[in-house]
Amino acid sequence: MPEQSPLVPAEGDPFGPHNLPYGVFSTADEPDRRRLGVRIGDQVLDAGAAAHALGSPYAALLDRPGLNPLMAAGRTAWRDVRRALTAWVTVPAHRADIEPLLHPLGSVTLHLPYEVADYVDFYASEHHAANVGRIFRPGGAALTPNWKHLPIGYHGRAGTVVVSGTDVVRPSGQRKSPADPVPVFGPSTKLDIEAEVAFVVGAPSARGSAVGSAAFRDHVFGLSLLNDWSARDIQAWEYVPLGPFLGKSFATSVSAWVTPLEALDAARVAPPARTEPLLPYLDDADDEEPGGFDLRITVSLNGQVISEPPFSGMYWTAAQQLAHMTVNGASLRTGDLFASGTVSGPERDQRGSLLELTWNGTEPLELPDGKRTFLEDGDEVTLTAWAPGPDGTRVGLGEVAGRVVSG
Ligand code: MN
Repeated sequence: MPEQSPLVPAEGDPFGPHNLPYGVFSTADEPDRRRLGVRIGDQVLDAGAAAHALGSPYAALLDRPGLNPLMAAGRTAWRDVRRALTAWVTVPAHRADIEPLLHPLGSVTLHLPYEVADYVDFYASEHHAANVGRIFRPGGAALTPNWKHLPIGYHGRAGTVVVSGTDVVRPSGQRKSPADPVPVFGPSTKLDIEAEVAFVVGAPSARGSAVGSAAFRDHVFGLSLLNDWSARDIQAWEYVPLGPFLGKSFATSVSAWVTPLEALDAARVAPPARTEPLLPYLDDADDEEPGGFDLRITVSLNGQVISEPPFSGMYWTAAQQLAHMTVNGASLRTGDLFASGTVSGPERDQRGSLLELTWNGTEPLELPDGKRTFLEDGDEVTLTAWAPGPDGTRVGLGEVAGRVVSG
């Protein structure tokens, strides 16, 4: 076994060479020059400069201001580039070339790493869907009749997907509580979060052809954490009969780092047992690899952990969601983002939204700075996550943070 390069962070670092997530950064010296970067420990490697320095045939994909060209290049390119990057940061002979191309993470500005094409949000946690059903339809069935037959989703607003660290302006809109005779207008009083995982499409597909769940790895480039900010009061008044609209479209935050699928091979797990038979295009019983991902998410509000939702319990997998959203012939575009829906586990401290954590405001959280039902101006929410990696390592997923400011 060759000597490890001193560039490799300490053993146990969740951003070691087994991870290598992609992002886009700029430096204080050249704030307008966006560059593709790869995170190693607490440093960012200028991937394009490294490719040129080492004569890589992939320099044309890496010396770019965003990830879309690499994402569009497809699975073989993703594998080869990852192999090259792994060598660049681990082989001691490359140290002299690579070391000058590293920037301390704290010194760079991180940007939205990909141009978002279409954005779809699903509703794949049975615990979340059942909690929402109990809150909004008390006395009725917790799940709607379609829930176990198809992954429910809606099309969101791609143009308001923002990178971690971007402030979120409290939205205004219409709301009408049952006690109000007519709707009123004003800043949302029930601003909430949804802890989610987003899958980023790399390779496109042709309109008119379906993409089966077995083709998941051919099309999906990687994962980002996602916070689907939600104004519950606006949502509750507007959503019948066509679903979420202005209560969601004002902002959606994603992490600055995209974790490649290959970094999560050790985290694949079987989804929960299916309790209803599935139509053939959704039946993943014979798929070559399990469709779930064992991701452990932590939700913090002003630095205080308020929830730890487990992604492994999601009923619908991303491969099934991919199959479902193309089964009608809808095409995929590079940069399409499809999110899991709120991740909630069976326990109270595993709920991925304040709606559930406070049971629609009736059971406030006790925080060091007082009781909290929904978000107040100045609140900062941070999602982090990790997954089991190879040989007992942990794979860190980049954080997604955002602060609420008054509208
Ligand atoms: Mn959502």
